Amino acid sequence: EGRETRLRVVLRVRPLTCTETRRGDQQVVHSLGDGAVHVSAARHDATFGFSAVFDAGASQEAVFEGSGMRQLVELAMDGFSCTVFAFGQTGSGKTYTLMGPLAQSETRPAAPALLGLMQRSFTCLLEQSRSRGSDLALSASYLEIYNEQVRDLLSSGPPCALPLRWSKTRGFYVENQLSVEFESLEAIVSLLLQGSQRRRTSAHALNRHSSRSHALLTIHISSRAVSAHPAPGEGWGASACPSKQGTLCFVDLAGSERVKETGSSGELSVEANSINRSLLALGHCISLLAKSRGKRTHIPYRDSKLTRLLARSLGGSGVTLMVACISPSSHCLSETLSTLHYASRARRVTTRP
Ligand code: ADP
Ligand code: MG
Repeated sequence: EGRETRLRVVLRVRPLTCTETRRGDQQVVHSLGDGAVHVSAARHDATFGFSAVFDAGASQEAVFEGSGMRQLVELAMDGFSCTVFAFGQTGSGKTYTLMGPLAQSETRPAAPALLGLMQRSFTCLLEQSRSRGSDLALSASYLEIYNEQVRDLLSSGPPCALPLRWSKTRGFYVENQLSVEFESLEAIVSLLLQGSQRRRTSAHALNRHSSRSHALLTIHISSRAVSAHPAPGEGWGASACPSKQGTLCFVDLAGSERVKETGSSGELSVEANSINRSLLALGHCISLLAKSRGKRTHIPYRDSKLTRLLARSLGGSGVTLMVACISPSSHCLSETLSTLHYASRARRVTTRP
């Protein structure tokens, strides 16, 4: 087991949207520098600290470089299980941060400056793999959790539910998920678009603008360190060199605001109810994981598919980066505070990479 390492939690505050500006919303979130952020509104006055805070002016590149994303890519190449997840209410900038405008237009290529964490990571990964010159195999799988069902976004045909299993060696894993090999940026971006479109279509009927599912894109990186000068007498060839299996997983969580809405209304759609349940389960696991190891009780990963799939990232041997996304508007105050509390709690969670 490795050294205990804290989750890295960064915060991104998006700019006010046109609608918010037109409505005359107050800006209630202010970055104080040095990873501190201040929320001030009528009856609230609180300061929160994170590993980094990106305010409205922060570019996509600044977020990539300042969040530790580049290091995460490198760790994945070294064989670690790395995860980055974006969370926050609908419309807070999760998809923008992960994908940039890529998500919005399939036909028009996005301006390079606007590319999100995913594309920047792919570029970095492919560059690194070229410069390291190691024997690297890259493949991708793309899943969504919709109504507590795990579905493959890369398989052809109508989405069908895949079983989620557990084994001693692998932990929780999805059976029969498709893993598609790729070698170029174009190939992985096209897989990403293909999968995202499938995700969107399924969500379309119920909600036009927000993702009603959690999406997990995983890049599998297997490398075999081939030694250029094998020691004399060692007739093992390349197979004697340790191979490394790293993963880099991007998680776009469904919006969190429904949790409260559904709690108060009598009309629970199955869909909102599942999001509610899985986000509550995630929050519950994070709260328990945030206690010191000695005081920790059983962590109920089995409460939802999402927590099962994230078990390793949250409590196991993974390296995890959380990007909390919020709106600066007074209109979103209560959701913003709840995201900030959730994110602060996550800072106390440790894993052993
Ligand atoms: P979410 O995925 O959290 O529901 P989106 O990423 O779709 O939210 O963002 C909502 C809207 O705000 C989109 O129109 C998006 O382009 C815009 N937006 C989000 N973050 C930023 C940002 N940092 N800079 C500019 N526009 C942003
Ligand atoms: Mg989104």
